[in-house]
Amino acid sequence: MRVVIAGGGLVGLALAALLRRRGVEPHVVERMPAGGYVKRGFMLGHQGYDALQDLGLLEQIVAAGRPIGAMPDGCSAATAIEVERVLAAVGEGVPVLHEHTVVALERDSAGRVVGAAVEGPEGARVIACDLVVACDGFRSGVREMAGLEAEIEPMEEGKIEWMSPVPTPDSFDMAYLSNGAHIGMLSWPEGSFGWRTMHRSGRDAALAPGIDAFAEAWSRLLPSSAAGVRALTTTDELLYTEPELLSCPSWWVPGVVVIGDAAHFFGPETGASAGIGLADAFALTEAIAAHRTDADAACATYEASRAPAVRPYESGDPSRARLRGTPLAPGRSEERWPPAA
Ligand SMILES: Cc1cc2nc3c(=O)[nH]c(=O)nc-3n(C[C@H](O)[C@H](O)[C@H](O)COP(=O)(O)OP(=O)(O)OC[C@H]3O[C@@H](n4cnc5c(N)ncnc54)[C@H](O)[C@@H]3O)c2cc1C
Repeated sequence: MRVVIAGGGLVGLALAALLRRRGVEPHVVERMPAGGYVKRGFMLGHQGYDALQDLGLLEQIVAAGRPIGAMPDGCSAATAIEVERVLAAVGEGVPVLHEHTVVALERDSAGRVVGAAVEGPEGARVIACDLVVACDGFRSGVREMAGLEAEIEPMEEGKIEWMSPVPTPDSFDMAYLSNGAHIGMLSWPEGSFGWRTMHRSGRDAALAPGIDAFAEAWSRLLPSSAAGVRALTTTDELLYTEPELLSCPSWWVPGVVVIGDAAHFFGPETGASAGIGLADAFALTEAIAAHRTDADAACATYEASRAPAVRPYESGDPSRARLRGTPLAPGRSEERWPPAA
């Protein structure tokens, strides 16, 4: 099967590496230059471990991070790790067409997608293929070009997060506040990361009290993260966002399938987006290997096998539940951020 992978993030790279192990050589198209990635505090969920095991990388990735929780089989429930290490390990040896963007889809007279139009420094060209896999993230352009429906819903809450070069004694902690908002932190060997949900105050109001007041209030609510948050020196190290959730009623049309963040995005309490994206890549690889000459059969098999694994995360997502009629109450004043004037 001729496969184009749009997006060389974690999921696109993993899919390429898994396919190559089965003798399928995909074209990976990534708009960013080599080595470009969004630095982030990162927790890799156990949902992705089978894919990493298949690639022979699980042991080294687990060893490079810190374990979070435990599964009944003794394996950690997740690994806190610097994301660059995971990207480097998964992408090792995978050829990627960097600084190239998928800008359009080619269709035959019946409307089936039969190629990806790609633009790069040397101009534009079409890569003919049997299947385009959209691994191009939350705002997936390929999903839109394919006409796949995306239900995007703003979360009820805003979110503020920080990343610090100082690790904390525990690898993970999370607490609920009196109004159902939550606060959490994770720490890998080289640093730590914290996040909390809050009322949508807007960025300026969220940063206005200053970094010392922020660190003080945060440390009171989640003392286990004090070493990390107190090492921050400026509000430039804080990121305020108003996150959205994503769900697609269907994941494929003839010639195109969406996986990873392009197909689903969960609220911060799940901590599962990357793990589920890796599991998507593994399931799609198995489906392609089972239907090497029939992309539609591979996509149908993929959707049938993945829906029972992914849909429960979507329907059970606490962020989604809060949208369905349980908005945040004001909460105790000492928990509020920014504090009342
Ligand atoms: C700040 C932050 C913190 C996070 N923390 C966690 C966490 O703790 N745990 C967790 O499980 N998940 C977390 N996530 C989500 C996690 O990073 C993703 O689920 C994971 O990286 C898999 O994403 P992906 O490969 O599907 O998409 P992405 O990582 O978004 O990759 C998409 C790639 O496609 C490329 N691209 C886009 N459009 C095109 C195009 N038209 N042509 C070519 N290339 C294109 C982009 O440049 C990008 O490299 C976090 C994300 C962020 C941003």
